Amino acid sequence: MSNSKNPETIAAANGVAVDTAFGAVTPPIILSSTFAFAGFEQPRAHDYTRAANPTRDMLADTLAKLEGGAGAIVLSSGMAAVDLVLSQLARNDLVVAPHDCYGGTYRLLAARRDRGQFDVAIIDQGNEEALAASLRRCPSLVLIETPSNPLMRVVDIRAIATRAHASGAKVAVDNTFLSPALQLPIALGADFVIHSTTKYLNGHSDVVGGAVIAADKADFESLSNWANITGVTGAPFDSYLTLRGLRTLFPRIRQQQSNAGAIARFLERRPEVKVVHYPGLASHPGHEIARAQQAGFGAMLSFELAGGSEAARRFVEAVEVFTLAESLGGVESLVAHPATMTHVGMSAEARLVAGIGDGLLRLSVGLEAEADLIAGLAMGLAAVADGKKQESRS
Ligand SMILES: *Cc1c(COP(=O)(O)O)cnc(C)c1O
Repeated sequence: MSNSKNPETIAAANGVAVDTAFGAVTPPIILSSTFAFAGFEQPRAHDYTRAANPTRDMLADTLAKLEGGAGAIVLSSGMAAVDLVLSQLARNDLVVAPHDCYGGTYRLLAARRDRGQFDVAIIDQGNEEALAASLRRCPSLVLIETPSNPLMRVVDIRAIATRAHASGAKVAVDNTFLSPALQLPIALGADFVIHSTTKYLNGHSDVVGGAVIAADKADFESLSNWANITGVTGAPFDSYLTLRGLRTLFPRIRQQQSNAGAIARFLERRPEVKVVHYPGLASHPGHEIARAQQAGFGAMLSFELAGGSEAARRFVEAVEVFTLAESLGGVESLVAHPATMTHVGMSAEARLVAGIGDGLLRLSVGLEAEADLIAGLAMGLAAVADGKKQESRS
């Protein structure tokens, strides 16, 4: 299918009805680890699944078209995707990364820096002085994550990419929180797009996977080569499931986003809630940038309960419909408490600096009925209010 088709069509139908063996409408899953040569010194398009596999290639082709890249490499996890981009760095190279990047990315950067594999500058990319100072050090790679986790901070991809390129750096954007349905980093100047396909792309919370999409053909080839050397490519079965999930990306994310917007407005009016972090709210500091660079505000949000960790405990014990779990992007709604779950590795002090309070809760909003989601949250908030009453009585 050509790149000129609309993205909804690519997601729903790329690779459909192209099977020549049986006329299968759905692209068949090819699990074979190895492929027969046509004859002596006559390899076919595929020889060994670590290097290339028809099912994985179909997913990669679909992702590359959706992100507008020259090619995609499908990997065994989102972390393998981040690491594949980092694999291109040499000793003494500098990586500039955001201080509120995904926890696993932070841990990986620190671990590779500690082994002397490269240097890392962790900065607030929304802080003009910090950004300028880090770019003066001539980094090789600038890593961007927007909106960030869990406060949904938004940075201007095009502005940072332009300046990063001027200082000689390549730019990679982790697009996991929005997916290509809502944000296209390559069109905004990125060289690489990183995904945890575990999240919105698969969308059904039953596969761990990742992908890197490269804007440039030569970059794609060297990353693809490296993924084969290190053997981090994704499994055919996972690729099949992820492509199946990807078919419904656009309608899923539209409905989830609509639910999230309604929830953000509901939470904003509640007295138990100190602040709601959702780029779709006019009160959000990144609202204008998000409006300009995103096709929608997404289905992730967080909010801070007045009353700290005790209020958070009461809330998660009473909330309905939302399941207390890490991860995001699935059809089912989840609630996480960053201070004790996703960000427990940070010191209390570092969390305070990052703005991650003990009363902060993060929601991944799913496909359930809006009314049920809001009623479920209301149960949690009622328990918070009850707790306050009890405290004031005793
Ligand atoms: C989950 C996640 C990752 C890591 O992906 P895995 O598939 O869990 O390895 C990286 N970046 C972001 C933004 C994520 O949410």
